[in-house]
Amino acid sequence: MSYDFDLFVIGGGSGGVRCARIAAGLGAKVAVAEARFWGGTCVNVGCVPKKLMVMAAEYGNTSADSAGFGWGIAATEHDWNALIDAKNKEISRLNGIYTRLLTGSNVAIFEAFARLTGPHTLDVGGKTVTAERIVIATGGKPSVPEFPGAEHCIISDDAFYLPHRPRRVALLGGGYIAVEFAGIFAGLGSEVDLIMRQPLPLRGFDEDLRTGLNEALIANGVNVHGGAAVVKVTAENGFKQVHLANGEMIETDLVFAALGRAPAVDGLGLETVGVTLNDKGAIAVGELGATNVPNIYAIGDVTDRLNLTPVAIAEGHSLAEALYGQGPRAWDLDRVATAVFSIPPLATVGLTEEQAAQNGPVDVYISRFTPMRHTLSGRARKTMMKLLVDQASQRVVGAHMIGEDAPEIIQGLSIAINTGATKGDFDRTVGIHPTAAEEFVTMRTRTRVAGMLAAE
Ligand code: NDP
Repeated sequence: MSYDFDLFVIGGGSGGVRCARIAAGLGAKVAVAEARFWGGTCVNVGCVPKKLMVMAAEYGNTSADSAGFGWGIAATEHDWNALIDAKNKEISRLNGIYTRLLTGSNVAIFEAFARLTGPHTLDVGGKTVTAERIVIATGGKPSVPEFPGAEHCIISDDAFYLPHRPRRVALLGGGYIAVEFAGIFAGLGSEVDLIMRQPLPLRGFDEDLRTGLNEALIANGVNVHGGAAVVKVTAENGFKQVHLANGEMIETDLVFAALGRAPAVDGLGLETVGVTLNDKGAIAVGELGATNVPNIYAIGDVTDRLNLTPVAIAEGHSLAEALYGQGPRAWDLDRVATAVFSIPPLATVGLTEEQAAQNGPVDVYISRFTPMRHTLSGRARKTMMKLLVDQASQRVVGAHMIGEDAPEIIQGLSIAINTGATKGDFDRTVGIHPTAAEEFVTMRTRTRVAGMLAAE
């Protein structure tokens, strides 16, 4: 049987676009459907605009800090609309690049919602299209659990298009999005309350990073409410009120729920063709994103595994190579480095101390210091770097950092850690002076040993 396309990708985000381009480059006849915005969450309401806004927040801090270096740059009131307009212009430019990348690779594009109507057929904005293989790359969307007053909260999609910056904002949640926006709004001059149910932000990250971030948030003037349960949100007298289980009430102008994301599967017709979901409501996949329907695949956040843009890109690339190339491209998804663009940022690769300690004794090296810039700026901002070394193999199994440039530094270290570098390899490496990064190759004195119980 002949089909309109060899491959039809639903979703024009990072993973879908990479999969489509690589498949087309390998000779397949490919189409992509995107109903909302080219580039998906990352380009439009995620990584890219978020990082631009973090940069905007840091300019205010930097201009204040410059006084310590002899400059007299007074930070003025921030112009929110100027930032949003500039950001929107850049996003439009990126949207155009994405579509040109596709059309330039001979991928047919549909600006419409695509729905499965059979294993090889789709309804694409009212038009029937057939394809030999189908890839679902629809990503995720913010999810807000049900609680009284949830309707008074905004979500991250809204935060990028607010008509003005709130004077006060309460962020619910202690994950990536909550801590990143706490830095953005505090840096731009808003009064920020961060309300999270854990005692520290970023559950699952190394404890020293979590503590370092908590201290940094407080140093930035964020009112951190750890271990706090939200009972309800009300809207009275033109303001919002967040009511906590301990009886406290926080009045604010805007409540921003950053309480997680859910796979975007609604309306895709998955039930029509019998594609199975897992217990988290994500598309259940095996190797290379294969679903239970032989010619249908899923990649990226819609599968809810490691919800990071570069992972979706790796999955899309690998799948295209497997289907139309010389076999799947190998990626090491076990030790993926990740960064949180808090202020200052943090980044991490490999195991946390708690995880590493489960495998046996671990040498823990920690360095905490005031970065050079802040010896003159006077800003209360610390850097923390941490290496975890498995005693038996001497391999560095984890590296963690909070402080300026942490994502840039950890990206390089992740190559060393993914290729099995030992502490001896780190020690033999001559540093670049004066940098913060050189600390990672000059840590000589062990801070403590963890995981002794695992060895007994
Ligand atoms: P996360 O899953 O990271 O965090 C959700 C937060 O909400 C957690 O603190 C969680 O608490 C809390 N929470 C969830 N449900 C409830 C509830 N019912 N009551 C109270 N608190 C609750 O979600 P985000 O929305 O911050 O981000 C979604 C994902 O997007 C991230 O996990 C990440 O994969 C991706 N992302 C990546 C970024 C990057 O790479 N820099 C940036 C932004 C997002 P608890 O810990 O107790 O469960």
